[in-house]
Amino acid sequence: MSEHKGIFVFSDKQDLALEILGGAREIADKLHTELSTVLIGHNVQDRADEMIKCGADKVYCVDKPALERFQAEAYLGVLLELVTSYKPETVLIGSTRNGKPLAARLATLLETGCVPDCTKLSLDEQQRLVGERMTYGGNATAKLTFKTRPQIATVPPRAFENPEPRERHGQLVKLDLKVRDPRTETVETRPTQASNVRIEEAEVIISCGRGLEKKEDKILLEELATPLCGQVGCSRPLAEDRKWFSEWVGLSGHKVKPKLYIACGISGVIQHAAGIRDAKVIVAINKDPEAPIFEIADYGVVGNLYEVLPALTEAIKRQRH
Ligand SMILES: Cc1cc2nc3c(=O)[nH]c(=O)nc-3n(C[C@H](O)[C@H](O)[C@H](O)COP(=O)(O)OP(=O)(O)OC[C@H]3O[C@@H](n4cnc5c(N)ncnc54)[C@H](O)[C@@H]3O)c2cc1C
Repeated sequence: MSEHKGIFVFSDKQDLALEILGGAREIADKLHTELSTVLIGHNVQDRADEMIKCGADKVYCVDKPALERFQAEAYLGVLLELVTSYKPETVLIGSTRNGKPLAARLATLLETGCVPDCTKLSLDEQQRLVGERMTYGGNATAKLTFKTRPQIATVPPRAFENPEPRERHGQLVKLDLKVRDPRTETVETRPTQASNVRIEEAEVIISCGRGLEKKEDKILLEELATPLCGQVGCSRPLAEDRKWFSEWVGLSGHKVKPKLYIACGISGVIQHAAGIRDAKVIVAINKDPEAPIFEIADYGVVGNLYEVLPALTEAIKRQRH
């Protein structure tokens, strides 16, 4: 029998750690095993309570000034020491910009497997973890399982619902580990212009694609987003090629789950469609009736976004008054 037992959860983003704890709780209950979370940082101990309320049985807390900011080598050293000492069977890490390379490096050091970006987690008949992830450019879903222990998987935001916090007992374990001296130094950090609400959490998203002619025309989307309390998003070329946005929606960008997604001047090819699969209602505005976006849209408007958007905004504002 394997000496590995229990599930560890870590994310450098507290909200994501809580979401993963909610999903991992169900798996831990099925396996009758312990669910622990790793809290790394400085002055972070007070987060332990909500982690316990969201499902953790144990919170391993390593709290030091040297860990105030995410630093790959220092955080990796802490995780490696904990995983080596406590031998969890499964390690779930938040799929953030920091979390993904951290998981890959941890797996390499432990000579074990790592499945990135699992949108679903389950157990097979041998009680092994099964991670589901999109593959072939979003055309297929792959189910992967593990031959080695620990089983390491990364989990993106909104793969699991936000758990409802409830009163439950848990244990806070404070650890005084030696932190590795980092070989790199943060010289400067600058805030990006991204909005402070995560697009994954938006209930309404108005997104634009290459049909938008000028950067200033974003105002048309913002004017519609305001009365709907929504956020503005975009397809990849508007962020990566034109640099009008810092982030995009899709396979290589954010996977979103809004109640309403309005795609304006977006062709809707598979790489974009893969990011909006979980949207409840998709509305497409496109002047090409053959655009692939109409195949996945619940409502379609064949027309020029420069005419349709202002008319839609006007109609919504009128209805609100
Ligand atoms: C590995 C890989 C990963 C990728 N990941 C992503 C990803 O995560 N997200 C993503 O979005 N893309 C991604 N792409 C790029 C993707 O393949 C497409 O190139 C991109 O989604 C197209 O963006 P678009 O729909 O804005 O532009 P286009 O395909 O050029 O479509 C523009 C659309 O606007 C319509 N239009 C033009 N003018 C108007 C108007 N005035 N009114 C109404 N409609 C109008 C046109 O009919 C057309 O359908 C990826 C590509 C690769 C290779």
